[in-house]
Amino acid sequence: MTEYKLLIGGKLVAGAMEMEVVNPATEELLAHAPRGSAEQLDAAVAAAKAAFPAWAALTIEARRALILTLADRIEADADAFARLLTQEQGKPLPEAQAEIAYSAAFIRHLASYDLPVKVIEDNDNRLVRQLRKPLGVVGAIIPWNFPVLIIAFKLPLALLAGNTVVIKPSPTTPLTALKLGEIMADLLPAGVVNVVSDLNDLGARLSAHPDVAKITFTGSTATGAKVMASAAGTIKRLTLELGGNDAAIVLPGADPAKVAPGLFSGAFMNAGQVCLAIKRAYVHASIYDEVCERLAALADAAVVDDGMKQGTTIGPLQNRAQYEKVKDFIASAREDGRIIAGGTTEDRPGYFLRPTIVADVSNGDRIVDEEQFGPILPVIRFDDVDAVIRAANDSPLGLGGSVWGEDREENIRVAEQMESGTVWVNKHLDFGPNMPFGGAKQSGLGVEFAEEGLAEFTQIRVINEAR
Ligand code: NAD
Repeated sequence: MTEYKLLIGGKLVAGAMEMEVVNPATEELLAHAPRGSAEQLDAAVAAAKAAFPAWAALTIEARRALILTLADRIEADADAFARLLTQEQGKPLPEAQAEIAYSAAFIRHLASYDLPVKVIEDNDNRLVRQLRKPLGVVGAIIPWNFPVLIIAFKLPLALLAGNTVVIKPSPTTPLTALKLGEIMADLLPAGVVNVVSDLNDLGARLSAHPDVAKITFTGSTATGAKVMASAAGTIKRLTLELGGNDAAIVLPGADPAKVAPGLFSGAFMNAGQVCLAIKRAYVHASIYDEVCERLAALADAAVVDDGMKQGTTIGPLQNRAQYEKVKDFIASAREDGRIIAGGTTEDRPGYFLRPTIVADVSNGDRIVDEEQFGPILPVIRFDDVDAVIRAANDSPLGLGGSVWGEDREENIRVAEQMESGTVWVNKHLDFGPNMPFGGAKQSGLGVEFAEEGLAEFTQIRVINEAR
């Protein structure tokens, strides 16, 4: 079995404790991972603090060059990364390969930004310039659905701005993050990036730590609220990417043959464990039955199996807790609506669930109101477009959303009223490092990616000179 180590102050070290990482497709032990102690987390923060002045003093070009070598190293080892990712996370190997390729691409793009000085006023009276300075130590807290990509969302911008970083992966998917740590150990100056895995017990300490200037967090809304509370004592900067309950609205006149595959892939990628997945589909009554039939056929045709097997289209749920949670959603969906595909487990080890389509449900049913985060899609019938916009917006969450139809003007009219950070038209789940990404309402705080995302890793310093 491969040995995994924490990265603290440039050294690969054993954890104070150990924890087991299970392959969700087999429920067999995949590896022992190091479990960091509170002291090890503190040592990682101290190392990041000590490394900060020298890292911040480098030119942005020098930092950029080092960040780009990380992308090269990930690509050089892409095959091993993808296999490990499938084994620890469960997603089909082609999805894991895509996650690794996107990670390198995101790192490259995000490393390309600059932090120019902005001249606000330059006249006989005064010269006012706005500088963007790094914050210090950044804590990056990562969920289990995209364990590599979400690091690639956060790390390049944090480093480019001149911050140093402590990464805390999710307890059920720490291995790829620790493998990244191994690469970074001989790539970056000691302490610039540290990786400490835990058993769900160090996130609060990192969020409250007096020497951490900012937390960039991706995870559930409930945990995001806890991060906010722990961060309050030191007025930490926060970027929170939280839960979503994305609605797709299929307008009258949409073509079911075109729409159904788009809805299906938007809902079931990564077994539905995507913050931006379609979690509610509102379909106009005129095409409701046909869209439901097509979705059910696609669900029946899905190949649910170990992600390492060729041909698998949907892997297992990532962990037992999530598997039990989604089974519970299926049970309540069975009471509130009509299951027209799936709804069953597989008679084998592993956290497998057939993709499940639930018809005849509405707002007020648990399966519609709550984020399921699994391979289950409720389909809601509607008659009136303005009423359905209100229904879609009647949620405390607002991450993404989509509108599907043939009438461009009507698509745009509806899209502009959806209360979410991103709205797609005739697609879902298309994003890139050049587009600010963030949630409305309880789906988050702040944005990631692009210049706006970079700005969140900086402190504005205004220099105001008398003339
Ligand atoms: P989670 O909130 O359970 O865990 C996320 C991370 O927080 C883990 O690393 C965990 O160890 C850590 N953590 C646990 N308790 C903590 C505490 N008190 N303080 C600080 N950190 C703590 O989320 P999850 O189950 O890993 O991920 C699923 C959720 O993440 C879903 O709600 C999904 O929508 C959301 N998500 C959002 C985005 C986005 O970009 N908006 C992306 C992916 C996932």
